[in-house]
Amino acid sequence: MFSERERFVEELQQIEDAGLWKNERQILGPQGVVINTVDGEALNFCSNNYLGLSSHPEILETAKSALDSHGFGLSSVRFICGTQDIHKQLEDRVSSFLSTEDTILYTSCFDANGGLFETILGPEDAVISDELNHASIIDGVRLCKARRFRYSHSDMSDLQRCLAESRDARTRLVVTDGVFSMHGDLAPLDEICSLCDEHRALLVVDDSHATGFIGKTGRGTPEHFGVQDRVDIITSTFGKALGGASGGFTSGRKEVISLLRQRSRPYLFSNTVAPAIVMAAIRVLDLIDAEPQRVERSQSNTLRFRQGMTEAGFDITPGVHPIVPIMIGDERQTMEMAEKMNQKGIFVVGFSYPVVPRGEARIRAQISAGHDLDQIDHAIAVFTDVAKELGLIG
Ligand SMILES: *Cc1c(COP(=O)(O)O)cnc(C)c1O
Repeated sequence: MFSERERFVEELQQIEDAGLWKNERQILGPQGVVINTVDGEALNFCSNNYLGLSSHPEILETAKSALDSHGFGLSSVRFICGTQDIHKQLEDRVSSFLSTEDTILYTSCFDANGGLFETILGPEDAVISDELNHASIIDGVRLCKARRFRYSHSDMSDLQRCLAESRDARTRLVVTDGVFSMHGDLAPLDEICSLCDEHRALLVVDDSHATGFIGKTGRGTPEHFGVQDRVDIITSTFGKALGGASGGFTSGRKEVISLLRQRSRPYLFSNTVAPAIVMAAIRVLDLIDAEPQRVERSQSNTLRFRQGMTEAGFDITPGVHPIVPIMIGDERQTMEMAEKMNQKGIFVVGFSYPVVPRGEARIRAQISAGHDLDQIDHAIAVFTDVAKELGLIG
């Protein structure tokens, strides 16, 4: 007999009563700039498909050919019988793409972060983390025995305080998201690198919302800040701009990557990345380099949307990232606005407490290189109409 039902039902009710219930909206077909939903066709402004490469025909073609040449899956972890030639090729390709020494694949970036900290840090070490870091970094840090320090979001004097307080540690490691997904702001890596150099600390950057499209050639936030050779370790995902399926990696100093191959638990005890994803990811990186206009387009589309929305009178958090938070403030108005946008065929999501602080509710639009200018302009026009209707702008 299932004797705990009542307790779970009660917890579910509490979630619903607090207005925190999450619904899954079904998409009837592939991910893309235009999607089919149960309510009809919609223009998609809420996916991480930053380069328009999710379900791109060339990626699909490569993935299909991988099924024929390398099969569906390996039924094994990497070090037993789960490593194919293409796994090594992708690791080399990521290293050459990011100008790093070596790379190790994981089935997700969540796993990359989960397997990093406990492998390289012990009780005599210290880990120093931005307070807004991604859940997978928080969980990964929880698994390690190093002393923990947390600094206020992107606050360099607070980071300096943590570095000073941890000065007796054997190894100090600073970890930050390259881009923070709720605000679309970039971690100030130039300043962080200077502090890490000064205090001889290692730096880990999780560049999941940047690899492939931030920086002049899409190398991510280290390229944007001109510090590519000063970041020790990068973790990132193939599940966002880089094809959008799944998979992740850790890339950087070769001794660290070697140690991860020997000891990192999600790598040792979880299945190898599927061949179709591996070959598609290689193709994605090749396409980014062969067709630089995709990265440029991501950046010019972002600029057009940010400028258009600002001119229309919206409160847009300034920045360069295709994550564009449209600040509304009031929770109820934000949800109403998102609902009306969706009814008019623009797929966006509202974020409110507790994902963001109370009174800072927002709609988070995400721009893709796959959007054309008409679609961007149309979205601005619909945002403007709906906001006027709700009395949010003049
Ligand atoms: C999305 C994201 C992840 C998780 O990536 P997966 O490959 O989907 O597990 C990790 N870190 C950050 C910063 C992310 O934005």
